[in-house]
Amino acid sequence: MTGSHYDVLVVGSGPAGSIAALVAARGGARVALVDKARFPRDKACGDLVGPRGVQTLADLGIDIAGPRVGDMDVVGPTGRRVLLRASAGITYPGHAVVVRRRRLDATLQHLAIEAGAEPFTGRAASASYTDSGQLTGFELETDKGKGPRLTADVVIGADGALSRVAVAAGLVDETQVLWAFAVRAYMDDAPSLPRIHFWEPERRSGYPGYGWVFPGEAGDANVGLGLGSRGDRRPGTRAAKDLGGFLASAGLDPSRAGRTLGGWIKMGLVGTRPAQGRTLLVGDAAGLVNPLQGEGIAQALASGRAAAEALLAAGAAGAAGLYRADIARRYAPFAATTAPITGWMVTHPRAVAHLSRVLTAPGVGRLVAGGWAVYWNDLLDGARPGGPQRVARLAELAGRALTSRSADRRSVWSVTWES
Ligand SMILES: Cc1cc2nc3c(=O)[nH]c(=O)nc-3n(C[C@H](O)[C@H](O)[C@H](O)COP(=O)(O)OP(=O)(O)OC[C@H]3O[C@@H](n4cnc5c(N)ncnc54)[C@H](O)[C@@H]3O)c2cc1C
Repeated sequence: MTGSHYDVLVVGSGPAGSIAALVAARGGARVALVDKARFPRDKACGDLVGPRGVQTLADLGIDIAGPRVGDMDVVGPTGRRVLLRASAGITYPGHAVVVRRRRLDATLQHLAIEAGAEPFTGRAASASYTDSGQLTGFELETDKGKGPRLTADVVIGADGALSRVAVAAGLVDETQVLWAFAVRAYMDDAPSLPRIHFWEPERRSGYPGYGWVFPGEAGDANVGLGLGSRGDRRPGTRAAKDLGGFLASAGLDPSRAGRTLGGWIKMGLVGTRPAQGRTLLVGDAAGLVNPLQGEGIAQALASGRAAAEALLAAGAAGAAGLYRADIARRYAPFAATTAPITGWMVTHPRAVAHLSRVLTAPGVGRLVAGGWAVYWNDLLDGARPGGPQRVARLAELAGRALTSRSADRRSVWSVTWES
C-alpha cells in the first residue's frame, strides 16, 4: 500500500481527537483522522459532559442537545446523603449535559470531517520514525489486512488510556501511571438526581473507587462502578465482578442491568509526558482524567482544542512546547495535589471508609458540601467568589501541604514543565 503525508495525523476519533482534527482543519491544516472503530460506536462512559466540557463545545459553536443535570447526591456507606449543589462559575455554566457516547462521538467525528479532516478506519499499528528517532506516523491495520502508511509533520495521539502513540513515542512509563478501570450498564428508572455512592463491600473497608447511578439520556439510568490502582492494571478487572454487589447495595436489581461495558482510565498526568518533539498527546492518552472523580470528556475536548491551536500558532517545530505549557498551566496544579491523594487512597481502603463516613456525617457534609462540589470537580479556577470558593481554596491549600513531598507531585511537574 502506498502512503500519504499530512500536516497532522490524529490517531483516535473520540472527543479529544475529533476536536483536535476539527480545530486544525478549520485553521487550514491538512488533517488525517484515524480510528480503529467504525462510527457510530459505543463507549463505556457515565455519559455526563461536565460544565467545562459544555463550555468548550459552546465556544466552538457545537450544539449537543441533551438533558441538563446540576446538583448531585453523594451517598455515604451508612446511607447518609450529602447534596452537592451545582453553581455557575465565571468561565463555565452551572450544569452538565447527559449525552450517550454513541451519539456524542459520532457527532463530533462528523463535524471534524465536515470541517475538512480526511477519515480513515484502521488501527495505528507499526510506527514510522525519522533517522533521529522522531515519530512520523503509522501503517494502518484494517479488516482486510494492511492499510495505508500515513505520515505527518505532527502526530496527535488521541487514542485513549492505552495509547499506542504514547508508547511508540516513548512518552509513557506505565509502571508509574495512576490507573482506574470502570464498568457501566444501562437500566430502566432514571434517578431524579445523579448519585455517587461510597460503597463498603465489607463493613469499614471502603472500595478504592465509587459507584454511580446517573440519569440516562433516554429516561433510563446509567449505572457503574470504578476503582483505581497504582502502576499495575490487574486490580482494575475487579470492577466487572463487583458491579452486581454494588447495585444490590444501592437498592437496585442487578438482573435488570443491560450489557456491561468497561474501559481503562489514566489519571492525573502521572507517568505520561503530554508532548515532545513532533508528538502531542490529548485527552486520556495524556492521562488528563480527574483523579478524584474520573471525569475526562471536558479535558479531552479542551486539550484537543489546545493541541490544534498550538500547532496553528507555532507550527510543527514549536507546537509541543506551547501545548505542554498550556497543559501545565491548566491541569498540573490540580493533578499534582490530587493524584498523590488518590494514589494513597486506592491502597488504603480503610482510610476511604473512614473519610467517606466523616464527609457524609450529619453537620460535616452540609458544612463542606459547597466547597466539595467546586474542588473535586476541578472548578476552582473560574469559580465565583463566595463560601464554596473559600472552602475549595482551603481544601486546595491543605492538599498541597499534605502532598508537598510526594513523588507523584514531582512526577507531574517534571512531565509538564521540564523539557
Ligand atoms: C465506565 C466509564 C465511565 C466514565 N464516565 C465519564 C463521565 O460520565 N464523564 C466524563 O467526563 N468522563 C467519563 N469517563 C472518562 C471518559 O470516558 C474519557 O475521559 C474520554 O472518553 C476521553 O476521550 P478521548 O477522546 O481522550 O479517548 P477515547 O474516548 O477513549 O477515544 C479514543 C479513540 O481512539 C481509538 N483508538 C484507540 N487505539 C487506536 C489505534 N491504535 N488506532 C486507531 N484508533 C485507536 C478508539 O477506538 C477510540 O475511538 C468515563 C470512563 C469510563 C471507562
